[in-house]
Amino acid sequence: MISRESKITVISGSGISKASGIPTFRGKDGLWKQYDFMELATPQAFQRDPHLVWEWYYWRLGLISQTKPNKAHLALKTLEQAGWDIVILTQNVDNLHERAGSSKVLHLHGEIFKRRCTQCLDISFWPSSEEFGIPNIPTCSKCNSNLRPAVVWFNETLDPKIVNESYSRLKETDFLLIVGTSGLVYPAANFPYIAKQENRYLEIYEFNLESTPLSSLVNRTILGPVENTLPEFVSKVIKES
Ligand SMILES: [Zn+2]
Repeated sequence: MISRESKITVISGSGISKASGIPTFRGKDGLWKQYDFMELATPQAFQRDPHLVWEWYYWRLGLISQTKPNKAHLALKTLEQAGWDIVILTQNVDNLHERAGSSKVLHLHGEIFKRRCTQCLDISFWPSSEEFGIPNIPTCSKCNSNLRPAVVWFNETLDPKIVNESYSRLKETDFLLIVGTSGLVYPAANFPYIAKQENRYLEIYEFNLESTPLSSLVNRTILGPVENTLPEFVSKVIKES
């Protein structure tokens, strides 16, 4: 039972976006042309060939623009609408949580619909999807330098502001829902441990296709496609509260 006064924090990963048709970029699912995710999502790749990296991002932006939030995203929105204090810490760079209607979302790995100036660091949204790909390398309206996707690549550190906000939230949370993430990527992999350390009454529920390294820590593992298991869970929570 999760009372309406409880603070709920969600950690979401690629598994929640999968049902919307967004590739997880792991294994065969991650190939674009002949390139692997790990070859393109690095600052070194961008330095070497910004055209190629942007071309890949334009493909991803086009793909993500055409997707819709699925029942798992909508279930989290429903909890917020029903009055719960719910914050989503997502590893996903898409905006499906926001499009579903969730208002408190922290993007640990950045946001694909934003770009950042390589010189003055100014961050801006893509004005519209018509502009994806024109020109191939977009430039900053303030200093004319090249823009890059405002996401966190391999070999890069996370935005300390986002990380600190996540930690503060984890320390005050009553319930932690882990949704569609295997708990292998740091720092998110540490989040459940940090939250548990702070609050030994913390309840952790995991929603994944298969058991993960986190399964031994959590109170309950609910296996299955999250677009089925999460809505079921949410309607039960609402009914019982
Ligand atoms: Zn600039």
